Amino acid sequence: MLASSELESLTRTDLFIGGAWRIGSADRIPVIDPSTANTITEVAGASTADALEAVEAAHAAAANWAATPPRRRSEILQRGFMLMIEHAEQLAQLISLENGKTLTDARGEVTYAAEFFRWFAEEAVRMGGETGIAPAGTNRMLVQYQPIGVSILITPWNFPAAMATRKLGPALAAGCTCVLKPANETPLTAFAIVALLEEAGLPPGVVNVVTTVDPAASVSAMLHHPKVRKLSFTGSTQVGRLLLKEAADTVLSCSMELGGNAPFIVLDDADLDAAVEGAMLAKMRNGGEACTAANRFIVHASLAARFADALAKRMSRLQLGPGYDPASGLGPMINRRAANRIAETVDAAKASGGRLLTGGDAARDCYYPATVIVDVPPSSTLVREEIFGPVASILSFETDDEAIALANDTEYGLASYLYAGDLRRGLALADRIEAGMVGLNRGLVSDPAAPFGGVKQSGLGREGAHHGILEFCETKYVAVQW
Ligand code: NAD
Repeated sequence: MLASSELESLTRTDLFIGGAWRIGSADRIPVIDPSTANTITEVAGASTADALEAVEAAHAAAANWAATPPRRRSEILQRGFMLMIEHAEQLAQLISLENGKTLTDARGEVTYAAEFFRWFAEEAVRMGGETGIAPAGTNRMLVQYQPIGVSILITPWNFPAAMATRKLGPALAAGCTCVLKPANETPLTAFAIVALLEEAGLPPGVVNVVTTVDPAASVSAMLHHPKVRKLSFTGSTQVGRLLLKEAADTVLSCSMELGGNAPFIVLDDADLDAAVEGAMLAKMRNGGEACTAANRFIVHASLAARFADALAKRMSRLQLGPGYDPASGLGPMINRRAANRIAETVDAAKASGGRLLTGGDAARDCYYPATVIVDVPPSSTLVREEIFGPVASILSFETDDEAIALANDTEYGLASYLYAGDLRRGLALADRIEAGMVGLNRGLVSDPAAPFGGVKQSGLGREGAHHGILEFCETKYVAVQW
């Protein structure tokens, strides 16, 4: 049920192992359009043996890829970038179809995702190293970066293109081969991007893609394969914890991009209109299904009512409908389960004293309306857990210390936002927020040129910038007798 033949030309439904598209040995996986709950197509299901074959293929390609000149690796990534831009509209439609996000969001994601290939094409040839003289003067010291080896890349459904390229870009630039396991909800985008990399000239085996009905078994087997050296995971903190335990068995290097619970602080001297504009971006990008999504609005008491009313007005204007309908301002959630979970969390917040300013209706199939709620106690699940949907809950504070205490009262620490009139005060408070990223008078922090990642239980390591490529490198030190 793909919308057009152009889309069909980009669609692959088989596993990609050792440079060949082939069927899997386990059950196929239906891919559902959340806008209609209809099945779009089915993709191949890898058995554990298929997954291990993908690891073997990555291992077989590893030495040649590591020895491929950085300039050549860079050219392939650059070509991958250009092919993604050439196919931007088809990729956006594919993302919108299997994920449900609006076409505007999907187009934004394609640009963002493609930029990771361009950025890491540029990083591939700028790796450098260090030299020095031992303090005793007895030897020279050479420090080089080498590809870490076969990497397992696991991605979630909320940014099916960007989460894949944010891992593939640095892994390939560093000289690593890999197995990519996309989320079962959104495999088509990952397959399409890898098909474009194949067209860009990527040698067989360098990237392999498996989808599987039983991720726990297949991923566990891959992580225990003796040739695997790296796990790069993006997903929930819950699954991340499980995988860190698995990775301990073979002491794998782990980069973990996990859940968030972003605070959005508005100080008393903030520009209210700018804060509401930033709030729309931080909350409603991707319908709230973003790890960086503002989860708790912490607004100075003198502005809280005006901020809440203005945000509710903006949010209530978003028309709910299929992501690929250009009239829609808010698409469906990824599935019914997600929409129902959001509805239950909002109902519980209402029961504990929350007051709705807009939305809050029951979920309808995969749809949940844009919702603003005030007077929710800080102890409620809505405030404590990642809502992952279009719900804004607004808390208020009197002093800066109180705002920081509320912001840091969470086990998470991924993105955060702060609106301040006085930049110096804003920067001083940004220092005190326990988060990997702060948007200061800005509702969007993601950028391929910036180190993306979290502190506390939001993860380990950074993606993007030059930090991203180092996650796929080992540091080799050579002591040279002088
Ligand atoms: P998830 O943890 O359920 O799944 C993520 C991936 O792990 C999927 O590919 C899934 O198939 C796989 N998986 C699930 N269970 C597994 C298991 N037992 N063993 C091995 N693999 C398993 O997360 P999700 O629902 O796909 O994505 C939403 C979550 O991802 C949210 O918590 C969000 O905050 C987080 N996220 C984080 C970032 C970040 O950069 N920090 C970015 C996007 C999403």
